[in-house]
Amino acid sequence: MDPAYAGLRDRALAQTLTAEDAAEPNGLDPLERLTCRTHRRWVHECIASPQHVFVVTGHRWCRDCSTAANVAVDQLTWHVSVSCPRCGRSPEGAATRQIVRTCRASMAAAAQGRIEADADAA
Ligand SMILES: [Zn+2]
Ligand SMILES: [Zn+2]
Repeated sequence: MDPAYAGLRDRALAQTLTAEDAAEPNGLDPLERLTCRTHRRWVHECIASPQHVFVVTGHRWCRDCSTAANVAVDQLTWHVSVSCPRCGRSPEGAATRQIVRTCRASMAAAAQGRIEADADAA
């Protein structure tokens, strides 16, 4: 594991961060990651940060309004929605679908990690 992540309490997070950092130079699309190198978190936990807005690719960006879109993540229902604060619409296209998909996958990975941690502790 990358020593930079050794201090993280969430072992599954540390392992996934390490694996994705290693895979990125070999072709893993950074926007397909389930973890965030910048914030050292699961992507669903920090997708709301301004650093997750990418104007060029349309990630969290409403082109109609030139406005950063909000992402709402419901960790109970695993519902993820992207919406523009101006027009209220969800930006169409692959970028929005990718956000929903990766956030749901990161929630699943985090939940799986918690289950395994509980099993280890028992
Ligand atoms: Zn982040
Ligand atoms: Zn808009």
